[in-house]
Amino acid sequence: MKESKYIYSNGSFKKSDFELSNDVNPNELLVRPLRMLICASDLHHMKAHADIDLTLGHEYVARVEKAGSECSLKTGDLVTSTACLHCGECEQCKLGMTNYCENREWLGFNDKGALSTAFKIKEHQVVKLPEGLALKEAVIYEVASIGYEAVRLLLEISNDKISNKQTKVAITGAGPVGLFCALAAKKKNLDVTVIEKIPARIKRAAELGFNCLPLQTILMDRSLQHQYDMIIDASGDADGKGALSFVPHLGKLRFNLVIVGKYLKEPGLELTKLNNFGATMKFMRGTPISSLQAVVDEWAEDISSWSQKIITSEYDFSEIEKAYSDVLDLNSSCKLMIKVQD
Ligand SMILES: [Zn+2]
Ligand SMILES: [Zn+2]
Repeated sequence: MKESKYIYSNGSFKKSDFELSNDVNPNELLVRPLRMLICASDLHHMKAHADIDLTLGHEYVARVEKAGSECSLKTGDLVTSTACLHCGECEQCKLGMTNYCENREWLGFNDKGALSTAFKIKEHQVVKLPEGLALKEAVIYEVASIGYEAVRLLLEISNDKISNKQTKVAITGAGPVGLFCALAAKKKNLDVTVIEKIPARIKRAAELGFNCLPLQTILMDRSLQHQYDMIIDASGDADGKGALSFVPHLGKLRFNLVIVGKYLKEPGLELTKLNNFGATMKFMRGTPISSLQAVVDEWAEDISSWSQKIITSEYDFSEIEKAYSDVLDLNSSCKLMIKVQD
């Protein structure tokens, strides 16, 4: 079959046609991505790996075109996956830590991604989405699962504080991932505050029902500092400095911190301050497939009501350059969706 995809190389996107055989292994699916979302990690990889040809796209919904003889999924089923395509057999996979698979392949960070009209994937690497789900909702599940996993990790490292309903959590960064972290924390009955510096993002977080404080306000008012038992840094430095260096101003004694946002530059986090506070810190790397499945099972209603607010614009497959340029305007954009095909 003649297929096409976009390759990001040397600072620009090029459309390229390729041949993909129709044959699938018994445990394999041939899928057609229908919609994909642009992620801050795409921007991170475009900067960090400028020397390799990238086929981007790991937040997507695809339709099964052909299923191998041993698969239980059928032609027409809607699926998504995490960015980490796991083997299912190594030590990490057997523990359920599929995001640490020793034989993983990354989707969207090499030559296979959703910015493509078709690709092949093993059945155990996908999660089936409910039938009849709107594509604009179906495409959000992967990014939602990042928030779910961040809060799961936060509670795992904070287990002596879970029972306290007064537990205060700060989420730094109100981009899509930060908002889903806030949602996950709220669902666990934690007292959530979203901390952000960009006015449009503060407004969006407030519209979604979150208590939201400007970072600048907290930095200038000492009485607002050191209030939080738990912190998730969902900012990263794709659009500037990131909030990680300010985290020691937010945490209480023995605060727990999960770092989700990616940093290309040294974030300036002073370890002596973390030491003084007896902080516990955990880095998150992707999400296991179990957390994606949990979001599919438990969050359909939230995702349905959020989809219009989260997806702020839509682009055709031919408008890639414009989409990846518009995404840099954080004052107007939240999630940008690409229509790969219908
Ligand atoms: Zn992503
Ligand atoms: Zn594995």
